[in-house]
Amino acid sequence: MNKIDIRSLSYFELEKELTDRKLPKFRTAQIYDWLHSKGVMSFEEMTNLSKDLRTKLESEFEIKTCKVLRKLVSQIDETVKYLFEFSDKSTVESVVMKYKYGYSICISTQVGCKMGCTFCASAIGGFQRNLTPSEMLCEVLTAQRDLNIKISHIVLMGTGEPLDNYDNVLKFLKLVTDEKGQNLSMRHISLSTCGLVERIYELADENLQLTLSVSLHAPNDEIRQRTMPVAKKYSIDEILKACKYYTDKTSRRISFEYAMINGVNDSEENAKELCRRLKGILCHINLIPVNEIKERDYRKSDADSLKRFISVCEDKGFAVTVRRTLGSDINASCGQLRQSVRT
Ligand code: SAH
Repeated sequence: MNKIDIRSLSYFELEKELTDRKLPKFRTAQIYDWLHSKGVMSFEEMTNLSKDLRTKLESEFEIKTCKVLRKLVSQIDETVKYLFEFSDKSTVESVVMKYKYGYSICISTQVGCKMGCTFCASAIGGFQRNLTPSEMLCEVLTAQRDLNIKISHIVLMGTGEPLDNYDNVLKFLKLVTDEKGQNLSMRHISLSTCGLVERIYELADENLQLTLSVSLHAPNDEIRQRTMPVAKKYSIDEILKACKYYTDKTSRRISFEYAMINGVNDSEENAKELCRRLKGILCHINLIPVNEIKERDYRKSDADSLKRFISVCEDKGFAVTVRRTLGSDINASCGQLRQSVRT
């Protein structure tokens, strides 16, 4: 018999499962608290339940866990990178970063990825499967437990395309922000997408205070199509229209991610075109010097090109940031540790 993935259930779903089994309502509150607030990894740990009840739960429900297969700690800035292994032996990466405002975790949403962006290490092994809501929670809870910290911010920027695993990701977001659980603020969560247009509209209609990051990486479709296969399906115009809808609905500022690749998308002309396209959208531009991965021969933009690009965008009135490199001594960019273990 397939056991029920108990940490993926909402409070009401859990209540239904438990009342179907003739358990009193207060049990739901207790069990939900163990799973989502305390973040236990076994029924064993639910010490206010009788042994009999724990055994009964164990026989019908499963608490999904993940094992720390590798853990790398940066000597420079305390960034911690994990390679987690789930029960089916599939592996994902998560990275914990320390900021002035607290701890942030970058989590994976799928095992592998279908999107095939040519600069991205996650695309190399192809797609294996979606993560369940409980497995995404597991990344957060396991890191938190291992480091004995409370994580306050989450970015869905690890391996996978979150909007390609829409239902599970949405459920994860609701569970992790539940005040009866981890109680994170939706405003402290960012979801990064390569731009699946229909899903951006759907997400906007959820009207969450979630920050949306859109991986644009190019000022026009021609350049975008060179590095991102998804650009053949959705034009930049369509994506920006969806983004405008998102900001109108939520009043949240969108972050456009732009990986600066030497000689591909980093000229002054590219910057001007980008600004023309983004004009009028509530947004900010986040430049990422492309992370050079050994499987590809892309090179980072040089410091001068980066500077020129920034000044064009600022002159046009855009807020621009350059992503800080954390954990550079442990290859903290997502996808690379998993690859190094596979090969
Ligand atoms: N699928 C989602 C989220 C995962 S990738 C997305 O496309 O947004 C998280 C971010 O890292 C994306 O902006 C992605 O384009 C970027 N990225 C991937 N590989 C990179 C690399 N080698 N250098 C810089 N940024 C990279």
